[in-house]
Amino acid sequence: MNTIYDKLDQKGKTVIVTGGYRGIGLGIVRNFAAAGADIAICGRNTEAGEKVAEELRADHVNCRFYTADITDCVQIDNFVENVVRDFGKIDVLVNNSGITDHTAAENINVSQYDRLMNTNVRGTFFMSTAVGRHMMERQIRGSIVMVASMSAFLANIPQKQATYNMSKAAICSMTQCLAVEWAEHGIRVNAICPGYIQTEMLTEDLAAAWRSMTPMGHFGEVDDVGAAVLFLASDASAYMTGSRVIMDGGYSCI
Ligand code: NDP
Repeated sequence: MNTIYDKLDQKGKTVIVTGGYRGIGLGIVRNFAAAGADIAICGRNTEAGEKVAEELRADHVNCRFYTADITDCVQIDNFVENVVRDFGKIDVLVNNSGITDHTAAENINVSQYDRLMNTNVRGTFFMSTAVGRHMMERQIRGSIVMVASMSAFLANIPQKQATYNMSKAAICSMTQCLAVEWAEHGIRVNAICPGYIQTEMLTEDLAAAWRSMTPMGHFGEVDDVGAAVLFLASDASAYMTGSRVIMDGGYSCI
């Protein structure tokens, strides 16, 4: 029988992490690098992405950065094609890229709404279908992990962020629907739903309030999310699909 360590091993696997050069994405990339994966990162900031890829290569990780904006479906398709050309195949997709907006619902205009939904929902969906088609064509029993949020299940306070929460709820629904549609192809689809994680996305002026509402009394680390994503992507979670795993220090329990 394979041990848990064998099941977590990613040697020979190609993993895409969208937005994998900072914040939670970088925590995810570091966990996959430690597990031996070959890694493709995409995002809009070429300089920052190339720097992280270079640092990983210096550490003997087979890593490449690709400039791609996930709000543009042509760029998504080109990115996926280029990863297949360079790495030969894709085994794992981590949909990490996302943006937030703390505008009160009554003040949100159409362009703000579209920007957030086109990134968080449309980008995540078309990235998943582009990679899903590749996995089906090659009969790869792959794994897709969404970075959703505990905000999919609640309304945060004191900040107002309706569109963000709506987008993360859509990603959770997407997780269930794709998991069911693609189960026959052996493709698993799961979501990690983090609470407050220490990154640039956290605005310090609200940090004290958020901390006081978190039973564990502190924020999560990007490595905590990375470890859970590695588990969901790996054979260690072989019977999990359509799961939405909450990791929030107990925030959503009260
Ligand atoms: P960051 O802002 O640090 O990272 C977001 C990443 O998404 C960046 O790499 C960014 O790259 C990328 N991105 C944004 N827009 C696009 C785009 N159009 N095309 C491609 N890439 C894009 O945030 P976090 O690390 O905090 O968040 C990562 C994920 O985790 C998000 O989905 C977020 O919603 C989720 N999350 C975060 C929590 C937190 O407490 N921090 C809690 C729960 C969920 P660039 O802008 O350079 O293109």
